[in-house]
Amino acid sequence: MQLGNFIGGAFVPPRSGAYLDDINPSTGKVIAQIPDSDERDVDDAVQAAKRAFPAWSRTPASERSKLLLKLADLIEQNLDVLARVEAADSGKPLSLAKMLDIPRAVANFRFFATAILHASSDAHITDAAAINYTLRQPLGVVGLISPWNLPLYLLSWKIAPAIAAGNTCVAKPSEMTPLTANRLAELSLEAGIPPGVINIVHGLGGKAGRALTTHDDVAAISFTGGTVTGAAVAANAAPRFKKLSLELGGKNPTLVFADADLDQAIPTSLRAAFWNQGEICLCGSRVFVEQPVYDAFVEAFAAGAKKLKIEEDFGALISAAHRDKVMGYIELAKQEGGTVVAGGSRVDRQGYFVEPTVITGLGPDCRVLQEEIFGPVVTITPFRDEAEAVRFANATRYGLSASVWTRDLSRAHRVAAAIDSGTVWINCWLLRDLRVPFGGMKESGVGREGGFDSLEFFTEAKNVCVKL
Ligand code: NAD
Repeated sequence: MQLGNFIGGAFVPPRSGAYLDDINPSTGKVIAQIPDSDERDVDDAVQAAKRAFPAWSRTPASERSKLLLKLADLIEQNLDVLARVEAADSGKPLSLAKMLDIPRAVANFRFFATAILHASSDAHITDAAAINYTLRQPLGVVGLISPWNLPLYLLSWKIAPAIAAGNTCVAKPSEMTPLTANRLAELSLEAGIPPGVINIVHGLGGKAGRALTTHDDVAAISFTGGTVTGAAVAANAAPRFKKLSLELGGKNPTLVFADADLDQAIPTSLRAAFWNQGEICLCGSRVFVEQPVYDAFVEAFAAGAKKLKIEEDFGALISAAHRDKVMGYIELAKQEGGTVVAGGSRVDRQGYFVEPTVITGLGPDCRVLQEEIFGPVVTITPFRDEAEAVRFANATRYGLSASVWTRDLSRAHRVAAAIDSGTVWINCWLLRDLRVPFGGMKESGVGREGGFDSLEFFTEAKNVCVKL
């Protein structure tokens, strides 16, 4: 299968004529070829988006809403095939793609299709002298860059609010997982979304992605990916005064207090550690357990990790290079004095599989607890008291999410307020409500997405002052 870029409603080959291989991580085999796009393709897409903008931004919200709802229905009708494609492209278990990725893409389009029907704006009455009101206007052409771990889920989390708010977009999905974006383009035509509203350019981050972040006619960049890439995106976009939203890496703590309901805490923190083989930015990869229950927790957690089944509970890592990086961290953990109490090896079969791995004996300052591994590797470290738990939780440069397990309500609120992260889950993990602000503190990102935060990002506020 050879993909084209989706520009102005048509699938077109890259200007260079060059293609990249797309590999199925579960087999190591090439399953498609995608355009190796450069700045010429990005410019073509931006021009198509610019042409579509005036009519789309003037389309009534009720009409935009209908079209997005139609697209959501089509994704839902194609759930099985999209899930199969997503699983083959990313290595994740098919059951997860069916349960999480594709339903969430449907939800994203439905959520923003209806949110725009409920949006309102402010008015400020200046005594009897004037009325100020706030116009919220779309920005124009926006650039959307997404990663490979939740391909359609995260791409739709950007495309839906961007076009719902009246912008047109150029999206660059990850070069590792381009296939569902391609299918989304086809479905958008079927839904009746006008040509040029959604454009998709495939290719490498340093080439196609960079061209998008430096293009003068792109008003905003919404980026989800690694922290180092986020810094490069910011360095390119900031001097051009583009609006920027950065959703970056994480090294999230799971804090388990001695009074926690361990029957809930253990299975949920196992899921938090190993879902999508640990390739979710929100995965709880640093588990801290209060001393009195530490030994029992480690025993049960390691036993649970050993029971996880390949292709049902965890899939292949995205690439051979990523698998080697993850294995490198397991070696580093041993060098740093850690003990592997579950997993620790590659799975002896085709594809890039690594066993769910549990490591003990490492403190919060070790590199293994400081650097994002983004794989099925979790550490468990004991803590003495609440103050130490909070100190350990905050001892990284990341601040995306945290999960806290305790039956003590006062402590739950205290600890939630003290942790430096954009999201804190109490006695749960990844319980999502699309209305809440989502994003990171510190090096986990800048800005918030979700609900009206996304709609605010994709619009410009303009104050109109009318003298009375
Ligand atoms: P990545 O940073 O390597 O790539 C993300 C996207 O950016 C890809 O489409 C890539 O092609 C593009 N890109 C790369 N270099 C670029 C450049 N110089 N200019 C513009 N675009 C460029 O990330 P990844 O490996 O695809 O994804 C994993 C990372 O994403 C992890 O760090 C994970 O924590 C993070 N992530 C964060 C969230 C969140 O919501 N905070 C969600 C999912 C993943």
